[in-house]
Amino acid sequence: MGVTEPSPTRNPMFQYDETLANLVFDYCRRRLSLEPVPLDFGGQAPGLSKDLLAGLIGAKPNDPEKILSVFSEHLATAIVSADSPRFLSFIPAVPTKASLLFDMIVSCSCLQGTSWLEAAGAVLAENQALRVLADLAGLPASAGGCFVSGGSMGNLSALVVARDTAPSRLDGVKPSRPRVVVSDETHSSVAKALNIIGVEPLIVPHRDHRLTGAAIDHALSEPGAAESVVAVVATAGTTNAGLVDDLVTISEVTRRRDIWLHVDGAYGGAALFAPSVRDRFAGIEQADSLVIDPHKWLYAPFDCAAILYRDPALARPVHSQQAEYLDVFHDTEEFNPSDYAYHLTRRARGLPLWFSLAVYGTDAYRDAVEQVLTTARLSAALIEETEHVELVRQPELSVVLFSRPGWERADYDAWSVQLLNDQIGFVTPTSWEGRPVGRFAFLHPDTSLEMVGEILATLA
Ligand SMILES: *Cc1c(COP(=O)(O)O)cnc(C)c1O
Repeated sequence: MGVTEPSPTRNPMFQYDETLANLVFDYCRRRLSLEPVPLDFGGQAPGLSKDLLAGLIGAKPNDPEKILSVFSEHLATAIVSADSPRFLSFIPAVPTKASLLFDMIVSCSCLQGTSWLEAAGAVLAENQALRVLADLAGLPASAGGCFVSGGSMGNLSALVVARDTAPSRLDGVKPSRPRVVVSDETHSSVAKALNIIGVEPLIVPHRDHRLTGAAIDHALSEPGAAESVVAVVATAGTTNAGLVDDLVTISEVTRRRDIWLHVDGAYGGAALFAPSVRDRFAGIEQADSLVIDPHKWLYAPFDCAAILYRDPALARPVHSQQAEYLDVFHDTEEFNPSDYAYHLTRRARGLPLWFSLAVYGTDAYRDAVEQVLTTARLSAALIEETEHVELVRQPELSVVLFSRPGWERADYDAWSVQLLNDQIGFVTPTSWEGRPVGRFAFLHPDTSLEMVGEILATLA
């Protein structure tokens, strides 16, 4: 049997098609210029059914315009716009225009950021953006890391390093039952990470929802505790209420006892940009590892989280992957982002942030974060002035909790559904000290007090 000659015609999937390009770029242009971005409906979208997609993927090609219209008319409206100024649930996401546009370059250029060998240009730029974050936190010049998919991946990657390097801090003894200090306000991703890596949580009671050095010190004085604890996780901005743990006293204890300090600033770390709250983060410069999600409050596109290590040399042997075909990565001492987290192939996902920081300058980031903090403070004042609602506590960052006296969880749920149906806001309830409450998570600099007032009026 002879070898079949390859077909002389080129595969159409890889040919530049001007019509297709215009179709997609026109969509992107329209979406980028929407002012304001509509909230849209998510899972509450009327008429959403998989019948809309019936037969769309078959053996033969389809008209791209038809497929794109199914997306724009039916699917896109069934995705709540995290960049709407009325999106106040969970943690919103509002990428800058420059970051969104550069994300298209990352996509269209197939940019990866796995190793120095393949992607030195991307690695240099990503590291410059990481340096901005390390400097804000006051980490030493040696600090470094990489961008990963999210805070969850950052927390997991950091805690593996803490676990694997613990024997060097525990007189060479590997704990038989390793544990990590957390509070019950620690983000759920940490519990997941500990489960994956076979480490148990040591839940330390908080003081007014804040983990403190004294409470940790007390817990570590229990018999067997000091020998088993491989790290402390402190939160710089809890997701539910935006509270910062007492990093000064916590870092004093972790330094004195030589325990790895991991700071989870996935949401709140961005407020390092804001002079008005910078003192709340004192002690963060002592972190052995720090996570900040630019896809949350640093206005970068999904998905982008920074993991920084005080001493990246500790993370490298833990995370670098060994395989014959990868030996070329490690023949030199050059910096490979793949060596600093649980991943190998990676999108150069730090580049949109890098471009945006360079284009707008860090003052613009400071101003955006401060503006949001002001919105949170003024909204708290507005709640206090409003007859039928109560402020749960003064906001520390940009999360504001409020209650509607007399309401049970079902009332909040029904109200939340109606609010989204009416496109007034996307505000989902949470609970606080065992009671259901309403929660605003501010992040968009264009969220106005009028919008907040409009939402509060619906609680009457
Ligand atoms: C959002 C968040 C996480 C998880 O980050 P993802 O990017 O969603 O994986 C972890 N910790 C805190 C404090 C968060 O707010």
